[in-house]
Amino acid sequence: MSKRRAASKRKTRHDEGDEMEEEAEKVSEAEADSKVELTQQETPARKSDSSATTDTPPPPPPTAAPAAKRRRRTAKDDKAETDKPPPLAPRTTASSFGKEILIGAHVSASGGVHNTIPNALHIGANAFALFLRSQRKWSSPPLDPAARRSFRVLGELHGYDPAAHMLPHGSYLVNLAQPDAAKAALAYACFVDDLRRCAQLGIRLYNFHPGSAVDGSTKEEAVRRIAAHLNAAHRETAAGADDDGPGGDDGPGVPGGVVTVLENMAGSGNVVGSRFEELRDIIALVDDKDRVGVCIDTCHAFAAGYDMRTQDAFDRTMREFDEIVGLKYLKALHREFAPLSLQ
Ligand SMILES: [Zn+2]
Repeated sequence: MSKRRAASKRKTRHDEGDEMEEEAEKVSEAEADSKVELTQQETPARKSDSSATTDTPPPPPPTAAPAAKRRRRTAKDDKAETDKPPPLAPRTTASSFGKEILIGAHVSASGGVHNTIPNALHIGANAFALFLRSQRKWSSPPLDPAARRSFRVLGELHGYDPAAHMLPHGSYLVNLAQPDAAKAALAYACFVDDLRRCAQLGIRLYNFHPGSAVDGSTKEEAVRRIAAHLNAAHRETAAGADDDGPGGDDGPGVPGGVVTVLENMAGSGNVVGSRFEELRDIIALVDDKDRVGVCIDTCHAFAAGYDMRTQDAFDRTMREFDEIVGLKYLKALHREFAPLSLQ
């Protein structure tokens, strides 16, 4: 099933107007036709997919209604149809390469973070991206303890390891390069809150847009502010503990702390991160190099002038990335197909 269809289907299923509704909508707008690939380096071995695929029964075959009971289709029937879970897609593997490829899409957390697991399972993803909060509001209620427990249980059941197979995307509102003190404090608090959510779920990688130089500040100043905020956030969440307080579920946390993954950006205006050099400059100022990485968004890269349309062009761009930033920092690829035709 295409993501756009999946997203719109979820949208109709959750039309009660809760805040996560926005998410499904956003997913369909911004993340449609895109895929997330996580790089294999440093990721621990995971369970075999075969067990994960086989422990979920296939959907029951459709049963035909007896002729005697045939009646006109009603709105209720349509709703029942919409509420049916989509069929399970086979779990993605690439055994011909001799190793598994971690690949999936941005899936909806509508109704609770635990719902990401069945949503990923149904599209055949063995890795996925998600939002941990409403990405267009400053405040979001804390993750529900019961949803966190379900998330862990379902993840274990279906072979999704939060430390290796998940890449949350940060809020679109956060600008860590914000020069205004009050706005910067708000952005920083939101960023750290997301890192704590990752730790509560055992998620090791956290993808975010670096920021932009606003209010007359230069890109150099913006790079310094981003790095300073990252250093502060790394120190504040150094333990990577699941510190959800009394009554919390005491999850595994993230030993060593969550890795903050900078996304390369399209080259518009004062946005930081469209050039690999800008990502390099941020990383150079980060004290704990183990807690910083990069996610390459292919659409952003192409818009910023990095050709990725052929295997040769892709290889050249990745060589350039390796020389400037270093492949060891590459944690994920966000492959977007909609606006350009990759071959
Ligand atoms: Zn992004």
